[in-house]
Amino acid sequence: MEYYSGQINRLIEELSLLPGIGTKTAQRLAFHILNMPEDGVERLSKAIVEAKKNVRYCTCCFTLTDSDVCPICKNPARNHKQIMVVENTRDLAAYEKTKKYEGVYHVLHGAISPMLGIGPNDIKLKELMKRLEEDVDEVIIATNSSLEGETTAMYISKLVKPTGIKVTRIASGVPVGGDLEYIDEVTLLRALEGRSEL
Ligand code: ZN
Repeated sequence: MEYYSGQINRLIEELSLLPGIGTKTAQRLAFHILNMPEDGVERLSKAIVEAKKNVRYCTCCFTLTDSDVCPICKNPARNHKQIMVVENTRDLAAYEKTKKYEGVYHVLHGAISPMLGIGPNDIKLKELMKRLEEDVDEVIIATNSSLEGETTAMYISKLVKPTGIKVTRIASGVPVGGDLEYIDEVTLLRALEGRSEL
């Protein structure tokens, strides 16, 4: 049964495609949007369209950014010889929130998962190895402690070791299967400080 007009239905449908948004929430959001002043709706849609158009990977660390090189890679005060490898931009943000890490990052955009058919070539690993041709002191592997994260950590350590660059893994104070972004800053810091050489 059609309760609403076609355009309202379409809006609800589009919103319900977003992660974590069920039909009820989609309806609530749709009516909220319809009740918003027109300029507010325009700002919202413009923000979505422009972010989508301009956000890309940093050419150095592959985090999501809206310029060629992200602010972290651009910052001369950061230690560019220390590279922390994370699975995604949200994990990077989690470490940035601690304000204690002074190195730079490398974002893999995923983790190796034979079950899901994600191999080493499907994540930004070649790009990491390319960066290691520069002067690098340490690679800190901060992938999640899930099976995929551990598999990826082992794989990276095997690749990096022959280069003679120090490879460390963050301590597993992080619960198994835990997603880095949900872990509090104190735990993250403890995991970073307690990292051990692989
Ligand atoms: Zn960057």
